[in-house]
Amino acid sequence: MTKATSATPQVTAQVPDAAGRFGRFGGRFVPETLTRALDQLTAEYEAATRDPSFHAELDQLLRDFVGRPSPLYHARRLSRQCGGAQIWFKREDLNHTGAHKINNTLGQALLTLRMGKPRVIAETGAGQHGVATATACAHFGLQCVVYMGEEDIRRQAPNVFNMKLQGAEVRPVTTGSRTLRDAINEAMRDWMSSVETTHYILGSVVGPHPFPRIVRDFQTVIGRESRQQCLERFSRLPDVVMACVGGGSNAAGMFYPFIEDTAVELIGVEAGGRGQRLGEHAATLLFGQPGVLHGSFSYVLQDEDGQTSDVHSVSAGLDYPGVGPEHTYWQETGRVRYWSASDAESLQAFDALARYEGIMPALESSHAIAKAMEIAAQRPPDQIVLVCLSGRGDKDAAEIARLRGDTSLHA
Ligand SMILES: *Cc1c(COP(=O)(O)O)cnc(C)c1O
Repeated sequence: MTKATSATPQVTAQVPDAAGRFGRFGGRFVPETLTRALDQLTAEYEAATRDPSFHAELDQLLRDFVGRPSPLYHARRLSRQCGGAQIWFKREDLNHTGAHKINNTLGQALLTLRMGKPRVIAETGAGQHGVATATACAHFGLQCVVYMGEEDIRRQAPNVFNMKLQGAEVRPVTTGSRTLRDAINEAMRDWMSSVETTHYILGSVVGPHPFPRIVRDFQTVIGRESRQQCLERFSRLPDVVMACVGGGSNAAGMFYPFIEDTAVELIGVEAGGRGQRLGEHAATLLFGQPGVLHGSFSYVLQDEDGQTSDVHSVSAGLDYPGVGPEHTYWQETGRVRYWSASDAESLQAFDALARYEGIMPALESSHAIAKAMEIAAQRPPDQIVLVCLSGRGDKDAAEIARLRGDTSLHA
């Protein structure tokens, strides 16, 4: 954990600066060809944020198409089981397409229309961002190409089929580890030769400026609603707010509206995988080093030679060797603490939620739930622990069956 010292910068919500810096992190490290596209995106985004009709259209979509606001839910039986504080969930799993990703893809699809571009590209690992992008593109009639590692295509067949049903083209990526980080490289390569006609909808708070800011802003609907719902329901703010961290978009959206509420503890939970050795986890903030990945300066999991390392997590959506620069900034300022949950702890949390609440959480979200259960057990009953339930777990049932040696889903 980063300790606050006199040299530690004070946290502020007024980030990033004009160069896309969050403290010393963030920025833009890309080839010249992309600079123009990123400048154009920055200008269009700033114009959109000043345009009331943009907000009105996005708000209406979030209400009628996504189903927002998502509820705040008291997990009574789970809380009783843990024997301490009250555990509450922000139900992003109830959104259309089953996760928080749609909040961002709809916002960026609207920006694509404003820029007059007919084509969208995206990367996806587990397939969740690919599905949310294909959905937004089908809704608006945009052409959609999704880059996906060959290995991930094999592991996530139902999501691949879903994207195709909605008219998207899924392009297999056969380079490197054939997973998410290679898919991002391919999407960036496509963009360099297609910027005139194409917008790249990046799926998390990573990549070059202005993506970390844009994706955060579109996801802050999670934290804004949560804050409002807590004030209405409890007449006060929660004691602890938690979220899982892959690239960091659901956590950034959940935490950002609470950043200046210093009495609220904020805790992000990374994928601890099956051990602490490089390659066995995806806990970038805990074990990474400063470095540049996908056009941004943040923490990166890398070996002694500075090579980006392989990562592992039971949840495909947390399987990324980088993390958003705002999280590195929040860690360095001490405003947010970052922990990890192991594969085994997350699988146990999945079981607990299924058994005690009748909710199957995504394995990604299960990481935050595992640590929330631990904290709740140590706190008095009047405390409120609020967790972002980032997505639903139907997509993970087959993998859980496989891990248990249950063949009923693989007949
Ligand atoms: C993609 C995904 C994540 C991880 O991405 P972040 O950008 O860290 O939010 C977490 N939960 C679910 C359900 C996801 O689909």
